Amino acid sequence: MYRFFILWILCISVFTNGFSQSKPAIIPTPISLTQKDGYFNMNDETIVYYDSASINTKNFLVPFLQENYKIKLKSKWHNGNPTQINSISNAIILHQNSSLKETYFLHIDKSKVTIEGSEAGVFYGMQSLIQLLPTNLSSLKIPCLTIYDAPRFSYRGLHLDVSRHFFPITFIKRYIDFLALHKLNTFHWHLTDDQGWRIEIKKYPLLTKIGSVRNQTLIGPYGSNKYDGKKYGGFYTQTQIKEIIQYASERYINIIPEIEMPGHSQAALASYPFLGCNKGPYKVLETWGVADDALCAGNDSTYQFYQNVLDEIIPLFPYQYIHIGGDECAKTRWKECKDCQNKMKSNNLKDEHELQGYFIKRMEKYINQKGKKIIGWDEIMEGGLAPNAAVMSWRGEEGGIAAAKQQHEVVMTPGKPLYFDHTQSINEDSVTQGGLNTLKDVYNYNPIPESLMLHETPYILGAQANMWTEYMDNEKKVEYMLFPRIAALSEVLWTKLDNKNYNKFEEKIPTIFAKYDLWKINYSKAYFDLESHVINNDSGKIFWHLISKNKLSKIYCKAPNQSEKVISQAVPITQSGEYKAILKDEKNKPLSSEISQTFFINKATGKPISLSVSPNKSYAADGAKTLVDGIQNKMGMPKSAQFLGFWGDDVDLTIDLQEEMNIDSILLHSFEQRASWIYRPKEVTFMYSDDGINFIQHAEKPQISGISNLIYRQKIASKTRFIKISIKNIGLIPENNPGAGNNAWIFLDEIEVK
Ligand SMILES: [Zn+2]
Repeated sequence: MYRFFILWILCISVFTNGFSQSKPAIIPTPISLTQKDGYFNMNDETIVYYDSASINTKNFLVPFLQENYKIKLKSKWHNGNPTQINSISNAIILHQNSSLKETYFLHIDKSKVTIEGSEAGVFYGMQSLIQLLPTNLSSLKIPCLTIYDAPRFSYRGLHLDVSRHFFPITFIKRYIDFLALHKLNTFHWHLTDDQGWRIEIKKYPLLTKIGSVRNQTLIGPYGSNKYDGKKYGGFYTQTQIKEIIQYASERYINIIPEIEMPGHSQAALASYPFLGCNKGPYKVLETWGVADDALCAGNDSTYQFYQNVLDEIIPLFPYQYIHIGGDECAKTRWKECKDCQNKMKSNNLKDEHELQGYFIKRMEKYINQKGKKIIGWDEIMEGGLAPNAAVMSWRGEEGGIAAAKQQHEVVMTPGKPLYFDHTQSINEDSVTQGGLNTLKDVYNYNPIPESLMLHETPYILGAQANMWTEYMDNEKKVEYMLFPRIAALSEVLWTKLDNKNYNKFEEKIPTIFAKYDLWKINYSKAYFDLESHVINNDSGKIFWHLISKNKLSKIYCKAPNQSEKVISQAVPITQSGEYKAILKDEKNKPLSSEISQTFFINKATGKPISLSVSPNKSYAADGAKTLVDGIQNKMGMPKSAQFLGFWGDDVDLTIDLQEEMNIDSILLHSFEQRASWIYRPKEVTFMYSDDGINFIQHAEKPQISGISNLIYRQKIASKTRFIKISIKNIGLIPENNPGAGNNAWIFLDEIEVK
């Protein structure tokens, strides 16, 4: 069968890209794609021909097409004979003819679709075929083309934490399908943690009876102490685990189970308190973070217990790796524990980090004896890396680089940009963990660090995105955090570096989103969020300027108390209140999240303003205009884009109202946060003038209100044109305060003239 390959390679080099059809939007981008004239029409008469090695592929394709594309294809066995295959028409032929790992050829002409390659390769070729289907179901026309493809990395992972929140096997299967649709091949199943033990262990039934249930769950941001007061639990039986493993293997996906040790073990400790240093009592945690309690590393019964657990885990999971966690293990209890200290003495371990190394190496030895390898978070390098361990580098790439230099296998999974619990939008309105990892951040990630020598790079097996579910208590939220970043991830892991191009990826996004709609996937539309800023050109008017990445769609804006309107240029802001904007397609369907901005219009808004000194470069925002742009910081920490900061300086500012006006009062918004070296001004003086030269100072002192968001208010009750505000800095930060002896900051926000 080898001659098929040679023939196709010749074809690829002959075809050119001279056709004017729209470009196929395959995610991830294949190695080579040559488009030809014409289409293959998939219809009710199309037959899927399969062989013994492509049963899984056929079993995925036929129901997927029926569910999402409303077409029910018949299937037939073929005997692999090229003469028979060549004579078939109106068919999709699945044909294993190579042992080349994960490689495939996809050949589409007007009469048939042929997918050839290794067993897994044929499955991936079928995924590319799915990607080529139109989203308009009225006719399933697929462009004629030839693709040759193979992955860049052998490890293409996605993780799911089922401890913080539990997901039923119906969703785990859906999640595995998401991996399959993106040609990922490893599912990292985070099965145990402080907040719940989620896998049945027959020898230790309390692990699930006690350890899978917590009394309540934190619902506000970390540290908010807001709980839901509801019991929460769930676990998988070993029968269910086997069902999932089978399901994944039919999709060429390996599963790595993670059994956390010696930290993140509160659920196990609550079930069997003898595992801890001070023997409890312990409880299944209701909040997040790193607990002081860990498994006792000094007591041999801990090791025996976990070996017994692994005796049930190892035969269940066929893949070569067992993940043993190893991260964020507090050493607090070990320092106080007689058994742990004795263990250190008897093994000549110089500190608790070496005790952690001892723990991991001892467990590794046991797992190696059972014919498996360990993988762990980069803290497993503490106290010396276990001899055969693979490392998941999550605290940046440093751990992965160090491990690769020691010739250990590495999976890159740095928090930035591969933690999908982080928000993907600055406009995010749901609670999320961590910082910002945008679609572009994910796309531009390269798992091979520049600092590695060429001969060290093969130790980087690939990368993985992690889905920690502290703030994902439902399936829709998981999908929302995953999509469309999983598309970017699949290009990071599959597409050859030379073929990766963010601009080309962006061109595919409208098609990708149309597919998500068709496949009924809940996804984030943050990519299309409108960018906004205020235009203030000293004319006495301000405008809200909205910019869309999608020029084909329309921007809708809603002013306070008005109906939504399509806008084609910057929106004049004529009244106070909340303005909203959103991007919609021609069918009025939202393409972005809604953004909003509240404006406070007053007599100073948009008027010329000057400063006696420039603000500090770090907090310069849009210069003096920022103080009369109609936007106020109402609560909490300031967005630095909306404040002017002055470091140690006094500042005078002057506003020209452009005509004499009746003034009742003037307000200055400021901010105080002493921990950040930001102090309220020592003195604020308000003055007014008819000519801009001779200023009158009002006899009364201004009133001050607010705690951190401060408002200085001066009653004027006079007719005037020019206003001057003189602001004095306290100078140096006083003794016994953070930053004592340094210059104090003054932060200024909006000025209002009423
Ligand atoms: Zn101990």
